[in-house]
Amino acid sequence: PGPLMPTLLFAAGPALWPEYQHTLPEALAEAGIKADIVLETTSPETVDYIIFAPGGTVTDFSPFTRCKAVLSLWAGVEKYVGNPTLTQPLARMVNHELAEGMVEYVVGHVMCQHLGMATYRQDGVWRNAIMPPLARERTVAVLGLGELGRACAEALVALRFKVVGWSHSAKSLPGVACYSGAEGVDAALAQAEIAVLLLPLTAETTDLLDARRLALMPQGASIINPGRGALIDDAALLAALDRGQLSHATLDVFRTEPLPPDHPYWAHPRVTVTPHVAADTRAGSAARVLAENIRRGEAGEPLLYLVDRLRGY
Ligand code: NAP
Repeated sequence: PGPLMPTLLFAAGPALWPEYQHTLPEALAEAGIKADIVLETTSPETVDYIIFAPGGTVTDFSPFTRCKAVLSLWAGVEKYVGNPTLTQPLARMVNHELAEGMVEYVVGHVMCQHLGMATYRQDGVWRNAIMPPLARERTVAVLGLGELGRACAEALVALRFKVVGWSHSAKSLPGVACYSGAEGVDAALAQAEIAVLLLPLTAETTDLLDARRLALMPQGASIINPGRGALIDDAALLAALDRGQLSHATLDVFRTEPLPPDHPYWAHPRVTVTPHVAADTRAGSAARVLAENIRRGEAGEPLLYLVDRLRGY
């Protein structure tokens, strides 16, 4: 049995604390948990759970000998999943508001590409010659059919797009032509007039969209990347945009964030940059996910959303 009152170390950086200062105790109370929340500690061996996001003070997890879990505020964990001192169970953030935010971002930008919004400029030229196809005549590929990719694929199916999907393990989703395994991505991309990247960054997915795979996409295709910057080979993407093989890229995530002011993406006429805003963790619903996992930890029940260290996500 655990201690009567678990100690939670909020190690997600001081900037985030104001959002959790009230939401976290409220969510814990709703879950029936009384906890001692600390922002720093001189006795790491007394900490039962670490609430974590990069940018906080903890980089060495080895002194936290009693810690039952590290609970991430982020969905993507690639920055610390490989930290050799992080041997405690690691749970990532999954919640409905994160998925809702991502669906809104993806649907919004898919519709912009689909309707060819970038071709209309407010310059007095009446460009009425192009009739966009209907959604049911347009194929969108969703690469990554996890918590976020699945929700986006469902929303695109509801809008009548032809949706193809790709994941590591085989999936079956209503209305989605699903591909899996290393070879499946080429088949998905070959059909993708619009490709949406919702993959985690791992050794297997780094530079996945390289020159060869970009060249498989139909002429004039576009890309929306709210996944991770390094899923794409930047030089290959710029080359494909420059020669017109790809018509547009909407990028939310980058190898270096913030994206440096002199990066060619900023000024490229075929690139839309958004500053990693696709889907933010909202403290209210996130606090309830944290509290539920702490409740489970205290009750000896399996934790939700554990990261598989071997797979890296
Ligand atoms: P998830 O539930 O872990 O889903 C990941 C998906 O990718 C799964 O379908 C998985 O396949 C697939 N996948 C992983 N490696 C693969 C490989 N080598 N080949 C084929 N498929 C592979 O993750 P999520 O919660 O949906 O989040 C996805 C990513 O979105 C996060 O990792 C993060 O990078 C990004 N994100 C961005 C923002 C933003 O604001 N821009 C916000 C939140 C998250 P299986 O299903 O077979 O395992």
